[in-house]
Amino acid sequence: MLDTLPSVFVSHGAPTLPFEEIPARRFLEDLGRELGRPEAVLCISAHWENARPALSLAEAPETIHDFYGFPEALYELSYPAPGAPDLARRAAALLAGAGREASLIETRGLDHGAWVPLLLMYPEAKTPVTQLSVQIRGGSADHLALGRALAPLRAEGVLILGSGGAVHNLRKWRDGEAGVPDWAQAFDDWLAERVQAGAVEDLVDYRSRAPSGERAHPTEEHVLPLFVALGAGTAADGGGGRVLHRSFGPGGLSMAAYAFGG
Ligand code: ZN
Repeated sequence: MLDTLPSVFVSHGAPTLPFEEIPARRFLEDLGRELGRPEAVLCISAHWENARPALSLAEAPETIHDFYGFPEALYELSYPAPGAPDLARRAAALLAGAGREASLIETRGLDHGAWVPLLLMYPEAKTPVTQLSVQIRGGSADHLALGRALAPLRAEGVLILGSGGAVHNLRKWRDGEAGVPDWAQAFDDWLAERVQAGAVEDLVDYRSRAPSGERAHPTEEHVLPLFVALGAGTAADGGGGRVLHRSFGPGGLSMAAYAFGG
């Protein structure tokens, strides 16, 4: 009998995270040890957007360096974990059962939203990984429903790992400003409080209920993986989520991480 794993949301920050001496990097290194090694990982990354849910069937997913203008050493990193095509098919079947048709993509590799946190969590790269896309036009409620459909995977040894950013406004990051803006702190505080309270309706409606919701997420792709993890973790047992980590990285990007259920 496999343990039921929590579903997890992590913020991946900038692609240079593996080289940064910041608390979020050390947190991710510890998180892999804390969770133990799952049978497989289903990663929902902000960096794969598709019109409808898409899953990768890659047997040996390539490491995608989907960023520009970073130090050469970052392009030399790779994450040669095996793929998880059986998990992708199982996830597609669960989504179909919930009335959601998913696309199965033969060769899609791992983008940096997936491999950067996994490199820190499971550096041995032995755990099979597949990715699920976020949906371009799907909002928070839609992604919550996807998570609920995928919840049974948690009892099958699968780590459902959402990877995005709890506050993700790149304007400040590009400007290279130091410090954490008040609006970013206020949103991050609200998010942590509402997650712990299990306030799913507030979270789903974050764009109107949270302080600076639209400023924290000018576009939604970095917060949508949180809703998949939330849906997967609260489907059966309700209750609040757990704060795993809170800090800010360079440029006011929140590095908050949460666990749900398990
Ligand atoms: Zn990102």
